Amino acid sequence: MSGPIQTEDADAVATLAQASLVPCIEISPSREAVIDGQSVRRALPQRGRRTVGAWCFADHIGPSPMDGATGLDIGPHPHIGLQTVTWLLSGEVLHRDSLGSEQVIRPGQLNLMTAGNGVAHSEENTGASGELHGIQFWVAQPEATRHGAPAFEHHASLPQVDIEDAHVTVLIGAFGGVESPARRDTDHVGIDVALDGQTTLPLRPDYEYAIVVLDGAVGVDSEVVTPGHLAYLGEDRETLTLSAQEPTRLVLLGGVPFEAPILMWWNFVGRTREEIDAATESWQQDDGRFPTVASPLERLEAPPTPWLK
Ligand code: MN
Repeated sequence: MSGPIQTEDADAVATLAQASLVPCIEISPSREAVIDGQSVRRALPQRGRRTVGAWCFADHIGPSPMDGATGLDIGPHPHIGLQTVTWLLSGEVLHRDSLGSEQVIRPGQLNLMTAGNGVAHSEENTGASGELHGIQFWVAQPEATRHGAPAFEHHASLPQVDIEDAHVTVLIGAFGGVESPARRDTDHVGIDVALDGQTTLPLRPDYEYAIVVLDGAVGVDSEVVTPGHLAYLGEDRETLTLSAQEPTRLVLLGGVPFEAPILMWWNFVGRTREEIDAATESWQQDDGRFPTVASPLERLEAPPTPWLK
């Protein structure tokens, strides 16, 4: 689950997202894309909504068949300035990176890769059959860590908490009295909610929040949110009441509005065009900034940056 960001997703200029300081509900459609034959619904970024806290990218993949031969196969590609967060509901994916990590990710497990100044990875079909269904997020790194060393974490189990009819798994950050062990460079949270019925979740008024529904449908305020949308909820909420009339899975993302305007292009998150150009050049020249990934797949080519056209 790589997310090549193109100009359909975000303008080629650094923009500071404007957080809504009051509760709201803005429902906007995800953009349909095809990545390596897999259908993907890109909920973030959107031209009108670039970030939610430090969350800057969300690709909902599948559900789509894996037949043992064709699954997800994304060859080695680079990242800078972001963390990839991979979360599956079904199926499996093999992660390999330039740190030497090799890790199969399965449902209920969290795969978190920090790019810092540069990392490369591949996402590969394991040969397993079944259905692939999941979501990959990117988290923009703050100035304090974005030029730092890359890292990789895999969490085979995560803290869970039940709140009324909701079963919550805490992917990143603190929620409902429990805290994820996953690395966090900014003040943000991400939870998976399995809901059949109603719940009122405790929120932080200083966070902005958004929901992406993966399966089913959820009632929020007076709206119903279904897969294929981003529902942005704004700030200044103490609680959030959700209802579902069928078994529903969703992710709730939140965080303090991000500290700086970000510029996203292809697999890079930076602040300036010069940074993105330098990363593109390093990848194309294979100058050592992004070490080799031990993958049988072919390395992806970086597209030319749009401002050079
Ligand atoms: Mn990637």
